[in-house]
Amino acid sequence: VVATFNRGSDDTNVTVRARYVVGCDGARSRVRTAIGRRLSGDSANHAWGVMDVLARTDFPDVRLKTSIQTERGSILLIPREGGYLVRLYVDLGPVTSGNREEIRAMGAQEIVHIANKVLHPYTLEMRETIWCSVYEVAQRIADAFDDAVDRARQPHVFIAGDACHTHSAKAGQGMNVSMQDAFNLGWKLAAVLESRSDPQLLTSYDAERRPIAQELIDFDRDWSAMLSAPSLPSSPSAEGVVPDPVSEYFVRNGRYTAGVAARYTSSPLTGSGVHQHLAAGYPVGMRFHSAPVIRIADSKRVELGHAATADGRWRLYAFADESERRFRDLAEWILSAPASPIAMDRARGRDLDASIDVRGILQRPAHDVVLADLPGLLLPVVGVLGLVDYEKAFAADQQTGADIFDLRGVDREQGSLILVRPDQYVADVLPLDAFPQLTECFQVHFRMAEGIGRLAT
Ligand SMILES: Cc1cc2nc3c(=O)[nH]c(=O)nc-3n(C[C@H](O)[C@H](O)[C@H](O)COP(=O)(O)OP(=O)(O)OC[C@H]3O[C@@H](n4cnc5c(N)ncnc54)[C@H](O)[C@@H]3O)c2cc1C
Repeated sequence: VVATFNRGSDDTNVTVRARYVVGCDGARSRVRTAIGRRLSGDSANHAWGVMDVLARTDFPDVRLKTSIQTERGSILLIPREGGYLVRLYVDLGPVTSGNREEIRAMGAQEIVHIANKVLHPYTLEMRETIWCSVYEVAQRIADAFDDAVDRARQPHVFIAGDACHTHSAKAGQGMNVSMQDAFNLGWKLAAVLESRSDPQLLTSYDAERRPIAQELIDFDRDWSAMLSAPSLPSSPSAEGVVPDPVSEYFVRNGRYTAGVAARYTSSPLTGSGVHQHLAAGYPVGMRFHSAPVIRIADSKRVELGHAATADGRWRLYAFADESERRFRDLAEWILSAPASPIAMDRARGRDLDASIDVRGILQRPAHDVVLADLPGLLLPVVGVLGLVDYEKAFAADQQTGADIFDLRGVDREQGSLILVRPDQYVADVLPLDAFPQLTECFQVHFRMAEGIGRLAT
C-alpha cells in the first residue's frame, strides 16, 4: 500500500508505504475517507454535556450509578473513583442548524444549570469542574471495514474502532468494542505476516466485526432511547414491586455490556457446533468461558482461561473422558501422527506448542495423578534450554464443588475437545477422536504451502 494522508493538525501530507495499514484514527478517520468508505446511519447528531465534577448535592443517590429521566430532560450519573468525583452525562438534545452554535458554545455553568433543572427539587452546587466537554454523536457504521469488500481482491487497508462505528457513550462499549476489533485483526495480521496463514484470512475481519458493530449500534439506539425517555409511573406487581424497565434492560443485557455476549456465526474460522452437546458451556463462536481448575504439577487452583496469554497461538483444551482412553489416544495422535496439526511445527524443528498450545483437563482429583504418567504431549520440552513445561495439565477442582466438567457441561463419559482461536473465541467443539476433522480444521487455518495441508497428505 502506498497511501498519502493529510495529517489534519498541521495540514501536512504523510506518505505511508506498507504491506498493510490499519486506521485507528477515530470517528473522523482520514484512512476511512482515503479508502472510499462511508459512514451510514443517523443524519443528525445528538449532543451531550459530559463533565467530571466535585460538587455538593442533596440528591441522595449521588454515589450510585443512576439514570434520571424527567420531562425536563435526562442525566446519567456515574460516581467516579476516589469517593468524591462524579461523572454527569447531561442530555442536550438533537443538534439542528438552529441550535448548533449555541450547543457548541456551552460551558460547565450552562450544563450544570440544565442538570439542576433535571434534578429539581434536588440541587447540585458545583465546587470544581475537573473536565467538561460537549460532544455530538450519531449512530453510524462504515459500509465496510477494509478496502477490499465488493472489490474482488485481498484487503490491505483496514479501519478499526471509532473509525468504523460511532454511537453514544452511554452503553460504555465504544472502547471495549474498538479494542476487540483490533484484537480480532491483530492475530490475523500476525499470522499472515509470519506466513502461518493465507492472506485470505484477513477477509474474515470485516465479516466478523461488522455484524458485531451493528449489534452495538442497535443496542445503543435502544438504550439511549430508554435513558432519554421520561420515566412513566408503573403499577406495582402482585409482589408489590414497581417494575423499572431501565434496570431490567440493563440487567438483561449484563453479559453484553460485560463484553462477553458477542457470537461469531459459522464460517471457515467458526465451526457449525454439530458436537456442541459434548460441552454445552462452551458455545461455538463465543468467548472461551474460564472456570477454576487445579494445576496438577503444583496443586494450585487457577483459572483455566487465565492460563492462556494473548500470544497468537491456537489452543486445544482436551477434557478427558472417564476412562481417559480417548484422551490418551488423542494425545498420542497429536504427538506422532503425520496428519496432526502440530506436525507443521515439528517438521520445522520448532517447539511442539509453537503454534498450537494443547492443555489437558482430567476428571480425577489432582492428587491421584502421577505426573510422570501424563502423556508426553502435556509435558513438552520447550525453549532454547530444553526445559519441561509443567503447566499444561489440570484436574477438575473436586474440593470446592466448582468442578469444571459440571460448570461447563462437559460430557463426562466421552470427554470433549475445545478448539480456541488466538483471540479466545471457541472455534469448535469436537469429540476426542475426531482426528480427520482436526486435521481439516487446521488445514483451513494454516494453509500456507509448507503448512500441514501438504504434510497431512
Ligand atoms: C465522553 C465519552 C465517554 C466514553 N466512555 C466510554 C466508556 O465508559 N467505555 C467505553 O468502552 N468507551 C467509552 N467511550 C468511547 C471511547 O472513548 C471510544 O470508543 C474509543 O476511544 C475509540 O478508540 P479509537 O482508538 O478507535 O479512537 P480514538 O480514541 O478517537 O483515537 C483516535 C486517535 O487517532 C488520532 N488521529 C486522528 N486522526 C489522525 C491523523 N490524521 N493523524 C494522526 N493521528 C490521528 C487521534 O488524535 C486519536 O489519538 C466514551 C467516549 C466519550 C466521548
